[in-house]
Amino acid sequence: MSAQVGKRVQPRDDIRALEGYHSPQVDVAVRLNTNESPYAPPPEFVARYTEQLAAVAWHRYPDRGARELRDALGAFIGQAPERLLCANGSNEVLQTLLLTYGGSGRRALMFEPTYALHAQIARTTATEIVTGERANDYTIDAEGAAALMRAAQPSIVFVCSPNNPTGTVEPRETVERLLDAASDVGALLVVDEAYGEFAPWSALELVSDDRPLVVVRTYSKVWSLAAVRLGFAAAPTWVIQELEKVLLPYTLSVPTQVAGTVALEFRHEMEQRVASLVEERGRLFAALTERPGLDVVPSGANFVLVRVSGDAHDLWKRLLARGVLVRDFSSWPRVEGCLRITVGTAAENDAFLSALDDVLEEVVTT
Ligand code: PMP
Repeated sequence: MSAQVGKRVQPRDDIRALEGYHSPQVDVAVRLNTNESPYAPPPEFVARYTEQLAAVAWHRYPDRGARELRDALGAFIGQAPERLLCANGSNEVLQTLLLTYGGSGRRALMFEPTYALHAQIARTTATEIVTGERANDYTIDAEGAAALMRAAQPSIVFVCSPNNPTGTVEPRETVERLLDAASDVGALLVVDEAYGEFAPWSALELVSDDRPLVVVRTYSKVWSLAAVRLGFAAAPTWVIQELEKVLLPYTLSVPTQVAGTVALEFRHEMEQRVASLVEERGRLFAALTERPGLDVVPSGANFVLVRVSGDAHDLWKRLLARGVLVRDFSSWPRVEGCLRITVGTAAENDAFLSALDDVLEEVVTT
């Protein structure tokens, strides 16, 4: 049979037009580009985890409802297990939300600049995107957002707080106002708290059966389990019941469920890690503020966004040449000229600052 050129099966037109998600995975000494925890899990976690894995019935499907994990997680965050949905990373939680409440003929509202996957998953689920603009300090103007909700009638509204890539934390009053507005127009308010543990407050406590609020969290950051892929939503039971219909059966593997349950036994270690990263964030913020030509955005997350007065992409390349990888946002709308630096260990942050000083000197003198 001859090869049939031009007979390739075509995807949906809107999928073909998509660019996909690009965040370079480069093997360098100092990786401060994807907001993971700089710490490996405690050795005691690994020991407990592997011990439990030895007892797994590998020939059986996992518990579809992830009961043990949801019970432990519910006790940990102070919510009923019926208000929890677990999936493979918070990205899968976000996708499940959009598959359930978005889709053709429906709209998702988001406030840019924000986490790129909100728009990306809206597109793959054929949900129309409505964009609200953040203020110059990257906060959301609640009244403007409420007006936009009334005009656009979205079925789902995303608020990322702390916001990626800016680190901005929305005050509680803003989230409450947005929740009222969402209730009025019949929309679900999704607060993406992937970085919630680093922030001074959390919308988790507002989740109840009489509010259309979903809070999304992940094990990828403070629990040092990015490799496992585990995230969850806390939401009203009537939302969880719908999401469960959409989530693929047995999607959460036994190793993932076990990892999530065992991790919760290490709460103390996790809190210590959060405290030390918050301290390092303060040190990084102060050090960057001291350097000329840099404008640092206040952050409630485990990263800081910095606007560079010169050529930010060139600076990014020069840092990479010194073995320090940060995230280049220089050509992104609304964060032009910006780099995002994940807070690492004290040694990694020192390595970054020293490479930065070399580069800044080089740029000034060349
Ligand atoms: N939400 C936000 C705001 C994020 O920054 C990330 C990770 N980059 C995620 C969700 C997804 O995290 P995960 O799928 O690893 O849980």
